[in-house]
Amino acid sequence: MSSSKNNNCMIKDENNTTKIENNDERQFYKPTIKWLDLTAQIFIHAGAIYGLYLMFIQAKLLTSFWAFFVVYASGFGITAGAHRLWSHRAYKAKWPLRLILIILFTISGQKDVHAWALDHRVHHKYSETDSDPHNVKRGFFFAHVGWLILTPHPDVVEKRKNVDLKDLDADQIVMWQKRLYIPLFGLLTIGLPVFLPVYYWNEDIWTSFWVNFNFRFCVTLNMAFFVNSAAHMWGGRPYDKNITPTENLTVSIATLGEGWHNYHHVFPWDYKTSELGDYSLNITTGFIDAFANIGWAYDRKYVSSKMIKHRATKNGDGSYNKNIWGYGDKDITTEDHQELEKMLD
Ligand SMILES: [Zn+2]
Ligand SMILES: [Zn+2]
Repeated sequence: MSSSKNNNCMIKDENNTTKIENNDERQFYKPTIKWLDLTAQIFIHAGAIYGLYLMFIQAKLLTSFWAFFVVYASGFGITAGAHRLWSHRAYKAKWPLRLILIILFTISGQKDVHAWALDHRVHHKYSETDSDPHNVKRGFFFAHVGWLILTPHPDVVEKRKNVDLKDLDADQIVMWQKRLYIPLFGLLTIGLPVFLPVYYWNEDIWTSFWVNFNFRFCVTLNMAFFVNSAAHMWGGRPYDKNITPTENLTVSIATLGEGWHNYHHVFPWDYKTSELGDYSLNITTGFIDAFANIGWAYDRKYVSSKMIKHRATKNGDGSYNKNIWGYGDKDITTEDHQELEKMLD
């Protein structure tokens, strides 16, 4: 017996206005494979295995060092740039630092900042629901890479339209990268990492390509993927036990300090993305602080120990603040906001 004939439902929108919405699309959502994206992922991963093989039998030692150097250096473009600065507005940066970060981020090859931050804000605001682009409730593989090769849930498409991105639209460096993303990808994601070893130490271009494009790119991609998969599954949840994100040491080491994910989902505006005071397990915080010393990074937001303690004791609830994407979100409580304003440096 079909119930699809009249599948409309009454919902309340953000202004509390009741409207009728057709539910057919949601109810019968069946993801389909995006073949181009699947082919790209297969090419990157298969080529990475070949690149790893070449590192053992053919590549110069310096080329392998270079690949790992690029992985970590460009990683700051993701962690300090696209994530803490542009997605969460957890601190502010003067234009020279934003330029450095956007170049590093482009080398990492993770789409443009505007697109990355949009999905990341949706992820925080609607975490673990159908509206979350990499909803971990659909399993490890989906949260890790599956979401990139499948058509998104209609709720994701809809929620993407409602996220406030005015701050990014007003950032000329972000919009410059967005406009020129394809040539910049060619130049910085492929060209620079591959040709530098050829030019400076006569590496074979074939070897350099598989090592410094495929292998290097694949390592970076998977490090970022693990934050969405492993750091939403395995580890403690000291700040809120009712949400999936966890405190994951291994992911933190691999991602320059981005694995303290339970804390980060509870306090997404904290530029440290963790409670840790030292840099050994959070190198990105050291990176931002170093630029703060010369005045290029400023207005670093962080959370007082009182506020952390307060939240940790309330962790049975779980609904509190889990829908916040970062600093400036309308859902931050007045109490939290006033305390934050007092702490700005
Ligand atoms: Zn997350
Ligand atoms: Zn985040």
